[in-house]
Amino acid sequence: MRDLLMIPGPVEFEQEVLQALGAPTLGHTDPAFISLFGRALKRLREVSLAPGAQPFVISGSGTLAMELAVANLVEPGDAALVVNTGYFSDRMAKILERHGAKVTHVRAAPGDAPSVAEVKGHLERGGFKVVTVTHVDTSTGVLAPVEGLSRLAREFGVLSVVDGVCATAGEVFHQDAWGADVYLTASQKAVGVPPGLALLTVGPRAMEAWRQRRTPVASVYCDFAEWLPIMEAYEAGKPAYFATPPVNLVHALDVSLGLILAEGLEARFARHQRMARAFRAAWAALGLRMLPVSEAVTANTLSAVYYPEGVDASLVGRVKTEGVVVAGGLHPDLKARYFRVGHMNRVGPADLLATVGAVERALAASGHRFQPGAGLSAAESSLTSR
Ligand SMILES: *Cc1c(COP(=O)(O)O)cnc(C)c1O
Repeated sequence: MRDLLMIPGPVEFEQEVLQALGAPTLGHTDPAFISLFGRALKRLREVSLAPGAQPFVISGSGTLAMELAVANLVEPGDAALVVNTGYFSDRMAKILERHGAKVTHVRAAPGDAPSVAEVKGHLERGGFKVVTVTHVDTSTGVLAPVEGLSRLAREFGVLSVVDGVCATAGEVFHQDAWGADVYLTASQKAVGVPPGLALLTVGPRAMEAWRQRRTPVASVYCDFAEWLPIMEAYEAGKPAYFATPPVNLVHALDVSLGLILAEGLEARFARHQRMARAFRAAWAALGLRMLPVSEAVTANTLSAVYYPEGVDASLVGRVKTEGVVVAGGLHPDLKARYFRVGHMNRVGPADLLATVGAVERALAASGHRFQPGAGLSAAESSLTSR
């Protein structure tokens, strides 16, 4: 029997999306492909709530999306401020440094996020070209205050790059209204498509910063100059070639974005919040503590939960024996002390209750003492109370 995949990406996907992957591959200049690629680009702009942004859909993972943003916006010697909430913020800093940026970190303790006021203190010193923030840091389950940070960056005339890889289409985000310059993500998390696509919506200020570069982009594959004419052509209903698009993945993306928009973004955000609340109720009822230090910084797309006293990382294997795949820790300081449960994309009450039940049985097998059913009952009460 197939296990239920409840990790923070890849996640469970809709049948229609998987069917698109199995459809006969169209040529990349086939009119049917041109039309679905063009529609996927328009839909991506709608999902980011960024009517004025330029969408990019490029073969690669989320890390490529991060590198695309940096390679095009940053020139050697530019100063970058990294709002650091963990593993993926560190990765962003590494990419920035590799492209010649001088990086300053604003850090918080694991499980917490720097406040808007702290970031403001750094921006007031001046000189930054770009500020990066990880919307949800998948290593800790921490949600950063992206609205405040995006507005702040705009106020200071600094470009904002938001890594939405574990957030886009799951956490509330209004790119245009909040003034965020780049929103980047990957296909396999809340966007609901198997791994393989880097996705970006780049606002007009960021496109202008790219146009005003003094130095060429250091990578041909990353250069907007290669990709912009392709994205513009497909959106205008014309074929164009730079590098072969992953035809079936783009087809699957179009299908998934269509499903996301049909559900409605606000309804989808609310569903993710409702599921996250029920998971939190379950963890609390089982006597488990979460990594994020407060509800304000707790993500709705995954739970990062400490193992209780006397239970170790073998819990993850026991949960799998019970039919559900969850993930171990990722933050280098705490790796062995917690596990993670992804709850994004098509997650609903059925998957939620199956997951809490599997975790309960695994905890019991690990010797943790609790009233069997306590987590399920708390989750069910939370779901019922709306
Ligand atoms: C998963 C993730 C990434 C990396 O994406 P890959 O597709 O694994 O390259 C980057 N940032 C965040 C916040 C993520 O959750």
